Amino acid sequence: MKEIMKINEYYTEIGNNYLFAEVAKRVREYRESYPEKKVISLGIGDITQPIVPAVIDAVHKATTEMGDASTLRGYAPDGGYDFLVNAILKTDFQDKGIQLDADEIFVSDGAKSDTGNIGDILGQDNHVAITDPAYPVYVDTNKMSGRQIELLPCTPENHFVPAFPQKTADVIYLCYPNNPTGTVLTKEQLKKWVDYALEHQSLILFDAAYESFISQPDIPHSIYEIEGAKKVAIEFRSFSKTAGFTGMRAGYTVVPKELTAQTSKGKTLSLNALWKRRQSTKFNGTAYIIQRGAAAVYTHEGQIQIRQVIDYYMENAKIIKTGLENAGFTVYGGVNAPYIWAKTPDNMTSWEFFDLLLNKVQVVGTPGSGFGQAGEGFFRFTAFGNRENTVEAIERISKLV
Ligand code: PLP
Repeated sequence: MKEIMKINEYYTEIGNNYLFAEVAKRVREYRESYPEKKVISLGIGDITQPIVPAVIDAVHKATTEMGDASTLRGYAPDGGYDFLVNAILKTDFQDKGIQLDADEIFVSDGAKSDTGNIGDILGQDNHVAITDPAYPVYVDTNKMSGRQIELLPCTPENHFVPAFPQKTADVIYLCYPNNPTGTVLTKEQLKKWVDYALEHQSLILFDAAYESFISQPDIPHSIYEIEGAKKVAIEFRSFSKTAGFTGMRAGYTVVPKELTAQTSKGKTLSLNALWKRRQSTKFNGTAYIIQRGAAAVYTHEGQIQIRQVIDYYMENAKIIKTGLENAGFTVYGGVNAPYIWAKTPDNMTSWEFFDLLLNKVQVVGTPGSGFGQAGEGFFRFTAFGNRENTVEAIERISKLV
């Protein structure tokens, strides 16, 4: 009998993308039943404010260049164009006292791809520690590869600072400022993780997608602010929330050359070289036009303009946080991150509270349980809405309780 084609059966263990599909389904059904009601979403973490003029101008200019044989660009260089890589190096690192080389930066189409794809260069039998709740990509992609996962609960009891894993972790995912809890680690707290990784030869995958929302001092913007981190950490950055690139697609990943790992035969390999090999084989670069747009973020005007948009979102965060607190909710986050993590009232489950908000006041948020079991009993509000809707949503919720 012919051997049948086999699928990657680990995919059967991850289930469907239940969370946002279920949110969309419940909202759709509600809208069909009550078409006259205005539903406000503070749910999915997508942007609402226009992309800033500096970026739009650069994108227009780059588009025009593509229509002229003398300025046309084809395949982009592996790792990104110099004009973008140098801007990243200077503004995101050198100006903050961190020295990195150009070939340690890999420009990509965003942090989702990179945080998901990084597993390609990691062995299957690594013990992987992931904070809980978390951005679902970390757990799902590791399940897709059949890796053993240990969840590290982050709750009010531990002030959302994960404890070290019970079994020594080979790979650790940390995301700060955190999605979904909106919480951060201080330098001292992050240093403990870097020291742990140095001691146990673990790899930290540090997702800094929300770094630009940090407002308080002593909160690290990059893991490389911590001594020794270049030996143990890969960092992911994104232009999505920083500069409204969710639909444009750009991010980058830092893989320091100091990062090495041993093969089973005891040979030392550079993770930078492995990631370069992976990217040059499976990824053909971020569009020139988009890289020009991303580089414009680092110009003087670009920096001023994106700061105004970030401030706008963070004012929303303040409105949500103080509004909910005044209404008697216990809330976390919202100071260094565009997410507010609220305890559901009366010990309701996350989904019970979702239904209550939708049915009684037509406000949509994201049930915390969708980000992991430690998210049960919590609810995430995003600050990425427009001001009018944000204010109205909080007024409605305040009247509810
Ligand atoms: N990492 C975290 C923690 C996120 O919340 C998101 C998006 O919501 C991403 C990465 C993905 O970012 P990108 O749009 O760059 O793929």
